[in-house]
Amino acid sequence: TYVIGEACVDVMDRACVQECPVDCIYEGGRSLYIQPDECVDCGACEPVCPVEAIYFEDDLPEPYRPYLADNEAFFVET
Ligand code: SF4
Repeated sequence: TYVIGEACVDVMDRACVQECPVDCIYEGGRSLYIQPDECVDCGACEPVCPVEAIYFEDDLPEPYRPYLADNEAFFVET
């Protein structure tokens, strides 16, 4: 799955939402989140993010690792 991290907080540009072919990017209060079970790993969202908040899970920079669980948790709660 792809993961949206810190840079998205309070930005929520939504360019990624337009690109996602399976509409698996959802809006939270302060950030967008990718539904991990629906993401098809196409990568279309990553290059269009103006703040580079999106990474493939295996390429997450160390400070972004917690966001993998964070994105998953968002969907467990809702
Ligand atoms: Fe959507 Fe593709 Fe990005 Fe997954 S990688 S969130 S399917 S645009």
